[in-house]
Amino acid sequence: ALQTQDLSKSFGPVQAAWDVSLSVARGETLALLGPSGCGKSTVLRCVAGLEKPDSGRVYIGGQDVTQWPPEARNVGLVFQDYALFPHLNVLGNVAYGPRMRGKPRAQAEARAREALALARVGELERRLPAQLSGGQQQRVALARALATDSPLLLLDEPLSNLDERLRAELRADLRELFAQVASGVLLVTHDQREALALAGRVAVMRAGRLVQQGTAAEVFERPATAWVAQFLGWAN
Ligand code: ATP
Ligand code: MG
Repeated sequence: ALQTQDLSKSFGPVQAAWDVSLSVARGETLALLGPSGCGKSTVLRCVAGLEKPDSGRVYIGGQDVTQWPPEARNVGLVFQDYALFPHLNVLGNVAYGPRMRGKPRAQAEARAREALALARVGELERRLPAQLSGGQQQRVALARALATDSPLLLLDEPLSNLDERLRAELRADLRELFAQVASGVLLVTHDQREALALAGRVAVMRAGRLVQQGTAAEVFERPATAWVAQFLGWAN
């Protein structure tokens, strides 16, 4: 579903991403794991087209999309700060993507209702974002990404901003959901438990560079460096 090849991006003197090469197969979940500020969101934003890499390439569905605008890339996005459209109700928010891709209203809304049901917030379709809790907003953002039917889902800390109970609940639901969808999933997180619970493969990032990639078991049982071992043992 996704391949990045030597992606690099700097902001002034800060080298946020450095030769990052990773891949996500269809139906697979890859966790991009690392401490705050290591460049995870930068990589995700380059994949989504929201940031232009200084060098390197991005392939989605086998096509070189490096120069494509975000709307042409056909990815489903869930961000750290969910950013639902405040003036649209829940159904409108989730139907927006399918509408933009040319589906007639009735079909777009039908797809939106399916996605809302998958994210377990079907009963909230008439609410405005301001009338939702943080966890509900995350679920709606997730439904919005699912409704795009994109071969690639990009999730940036989808469980942040939630209290421990909601996080555990949504984590369990995400796990089930990832197993159901055919899309590849790139999940950005700084929480190693989340990576272990949700991802088949893990890519560990430190200061702009990937320091280890492997199955979750490999990375957790055989950390490649002392730093990785320490990071996996420490965070949270
Ligand atoms: P977090 O876990 O806190 O979200 P992250 O791993 O997602 O962190 P990034 O947001 O990718 O990290 O940031 C990587 C580095 O690039 C940081 O040093 C950050 O300050 C810097 N950076 C990111 N975006 C910009 C920007 N638009 N302008 C300047 N510096 C930026
Ligand atoms: Mg980030």
